[in-house]
Amino acid sequence: MTVVPASKVFPPPERLLLGPGPSQVHPRVLAAMATPLVGHLDPAFVALMEETKRMLRLVFGTQNELTIPISGTGSAGLEATLVNLIEPGDEVVIGVNGVFGTRLSDVATRAGATVIAAEAPWGEIVPAETIAQALSKARKPRMVVLVHAETSTGVWQPLADASRMAHERDALFVIDCVTSLGGCPVDVDRSDIDAAYSGTQKCLSCPPGLAPVTFGPAAVARLRARTSKVQSWYLDLTMLEKYWGEERVYHHTAPISMNYALYEALRLVLEEGAEARYARHRRNSEALVAGLEALGLTMAVAAGQRLWMLNSVRIPAGVDDAAVRRALLDEDHIEIGGGLGPLKGQTWRIGLMGESSTAANVTRLLSALERILPRHGFACGAGVGVAAAERVYAEASRAAS
Ligand SMILES: *Cc1c(COP(=O)(O)O)cnc(C)c1O
Repeated sequence: MTVVPASKVFPPPERLLLGPGPSQVHPRVLAAMATPLVGHLDPAFVALMEETKRMLRLVFGTQNELTIPISGTGSAGLEATLVNLIEPGDEVVIGVNGVFGTRLSDVATRAGATVIAAEAPWGEIVPAETIAQALSKARKPRMVVLVHAETSTGVWQPLADASRMAHERDALFVIDCVTSLGGCPVDVDRSDIDAAYSGTQKCLSCPPGLAPVTFGPAAVARLRARTSKVQSWYLDLTMLEKYWGEERVYHHTAPISMNYALYEALRLVLEEGAEARYARHRRNSEALVAGLEALGLTMAVAAGQRLWMLNSVRIPAGVDDAAVRRALLDEDHIEIGGGLGPLKGQTWRIGLMGESSTAANVTRLLSALERILPRHGFACGAGVGVAAAERVYAEASRAAS
C-alpha cells in the first residue's frame, strides 16, 4: 500500500472577529469542546440536555417546554421553524428588508406557502403600516415572520405592533433572533412571540453548529393540528421533541462537542446576567458609533433603528472596500464584514457580538481605521476616533458610580 502524505497541520491565523459572525469564542467554550465524548444517550449527556433546555429558556425569556437546539447552523433553525409550521397553501406574511427576510421567503415558498412580502428598503425597518397592508391581502394568514436583528443591514426591527396585528388575525407571530439572542432583550413570552429561532455563533459566542429554537403553546398546537407530514425528516420537530423529551427516542446523533460548547456558552451568558450583558452591548456600540462619527464616517442606519451588535457604516466615496478590509486583516488581524446584496461596496458591517463586544476591541478597531483610512484616500485625524469612544466610556462609568 502506498502512503500518501497528509496535508500540513492547520494553524488558524490570529484573528479578532468583528464581522457579522462568527464572533469571538471564550476560552472556556473552546476548552469544553476539546473534552472527551460521551454517548448521546449516556445519562450524563441526558442531564446536559436537560440543563441546556433550562438555560435556553432563561435566555429566550420563556417557559416554553419545546425549547431545544437544532443540530445545524442558524439557517437550520430558520428552516426547522418554517417547515414545521407551514403546510402547503398556507398564507405567510414575511418582513423583507435584507438577506434574511429574503431567505425566509425562499424557504417558505419551497415549503409550499403563499408568501406575502412586507417589503421595506434595505437599511430600514419594516413599518407597522406595511405589515398591516400585507396582512390585509391575506384571506387567512397562518403566520407573520420578522427578522428581529437584520444582520445584513444592521436594522433593529420593532416587534410589538406586528405581534398584536398577527394575533388579531389569529396568525402565529414568529421571529428570527439569530443575531439578537444574547445581545439585546428578546423576551419571547413577554413579547407574545409564538416561535423563535437563533444560532450559536452570534451573540451567544459559540462556534457555528447549533440553532436554538423555541415553540410556544400556539405553535405546538399548530404542529399537532398538521394534516400533512413535515416536509423535512431531519428537522421534523414531532420526532426531535421525542429525542429531547422524556422518551429519548433516537433520531440522530446529537453533535456532542457542539452541545458541550453551547452548555458552557450559556453558563457564561447567565453568569454575566442579562441586564449587564445587554448594557455592555449597548455601551460598546455607542462608543464605536461615536468614534466612527468623530472620524467623519456616517452610519448606514438611522439612529433609533440601529442594532448594538451589528454596526453598519457607509464606505466613504472613493475608498476601496476590499482593500481596507484586507489591510485590517493583514496588518491588524481584524475581520469586519462587507455589505451584502444592494449594499455590497456601500457599507462595512462591524459586529460587536458576545465576546467580541469589548471596549478594548472598539478602540483597537478605531485606531486601526485611523491609521489605514488616510492611506486609502479618506483623511481623518489620528486619535480622534479613539478619543470620542473613550469619552463615551468615561461618561458611562461616571453615570454608573
Ligand atoms: C447568521 C444569520 C442567520 C443564518 O445563520 P447561519 O448560522 O449562517 O446559518 C439567519 N438569520 C440571521 C438574522 C442571521 O444573522
